Amino acid sequence: GQCITHCPVGALRERDDTEKVWEAIADEKKTVVVQIAPAVRAAWGEAMGMKREDATVGKILDAWKRMGADYVFDTSFSADLTIMEEATEFLERFQNGSLNNWPMFTSCCPGWLRFVKTQFPEMVPQLSTAKSPQQMFGAVMKTYFAQSIGVDPENIVTVSVMPCVAKKAEANMDFYYKEYAGKDVDIVLTTREFTRMLRETHIRPEVLTDRKPDSLMQEWTGAGVIFGATGGVMEAALRTAYHALSGKNPDPDFFHDIRTVNEEYALTEANLDFNGTTVRTAIVSGLGNTRKLLEAIRRGDVSYDFVEVMACPGGCVGGGGQPICDGKELAGVRGENLHFLDRNSKIRFSHENQDVAKLYQDFLEHPLSHKSHMILHTDHNAWSMHEEQ
Ligand code: SF4
Repeated sequence: GQCITHCPVGALRERDDTEKVWEAIADEKKTVVVQIAPAVRAAWGEAMGMKREDATVGKILDAWKRMGADYVFDTSFSADLTIMEEATEFLERFQNGSLNNWPMFTSCCPGWLRFVKTQFPEMVPQLSTAKSPQQMFGAVMKTYFAQSIGVDPENIVTVSVMPCVAKKAEANMDFYYKEYAGKDVDIVLTTREFTRMLRETHIRPEVLTDRKPDSLMQEWTGAGVIFGATGGVMEAALRTAYHALSGKNPDPDFFHDIRTVNEEYALTEANLDFNGTTVRTAIVSGLGNTRKLLEAIRRGDVSYDFVEVMACPGGCVGGGGQPICDGKELAGVRGENLHFLDRNSKIRFSHENQDVAKLYQDFLEHPLSHKSHMILHTDHNAWSMHEEQ
């Protein structure tokens, strides 16, 4: 099919931030540090005319180095970090009874955050306080990583490539504690903007080779990769929460296979036996479905302990910043691609990511430590998202 990188009739106007990235790359005083979200690897090849299996994240990292980025990373790393924080937070809330009949909700999707704050404000305290992988990575780049390379955080420009238009607004939310001036993430590009940049350079996709992320924050796991597909955050968090409770790893596919679907709200739910304790989980994507679910929770018709919400149908793989291909719905195929990558990855548990373990050991101490709270978490009552970003 024919894929476009921006709307041919100009109906779809979006802010173009590629120029800012070129300026940062051209500025010798600046160190440009790039992260690529999991969902981008499942879609960028569509816009570049590549076969799905050839369009790896390693080639995106290579492309960025050729375009002049100083350091390149995979957001799957900080997805693992998010899981460490969020799974620990869930267990803490679950075990000390602070859920108050309503579930803990995931917090990594800014479309969902905006929705809950405006439509169901009474549920805001139920949100996980964990920042999203994008924001966590930016924060760690300007602290831990900046220290390790001996660069003043003021001279670091953090760039992310996201499947999502709302991630631009997320990066601008003013709710973060900072030890440095400026934002966690300075420039957010969509997948479409990235492929447009790549075309401007005339770098042909055939010359790109698989490149690893730079060291210190290099390792990623299959659990981090599935963040990009609906249900992936829940699945990754349950793998780690199970380990934290029982001291052993579950079958990594356990939480995938036992899902059941509630057709009415395209809702997936499961009651999980967690070492003798039952954890009731639900996964929903698309805001229409989310509204139905939240109304049912409010009425007391259903009851869960942990709920994952993604604003885009199918999760981030179907995000608004992804290539548009003949108007076809590609979220399903792209999501399967991420699960394929997970099944074939060496490490499938966030708690086994050695670079994340080192980050805790050398810098953050442990999940939910004071430092982790300051750098990786937020107060949802303290921020507002600007409408036009
Ligand atoms: Fe963005 Fe959609 Fe993913 Fe939410 S589900 S983070 S709005 S791409």
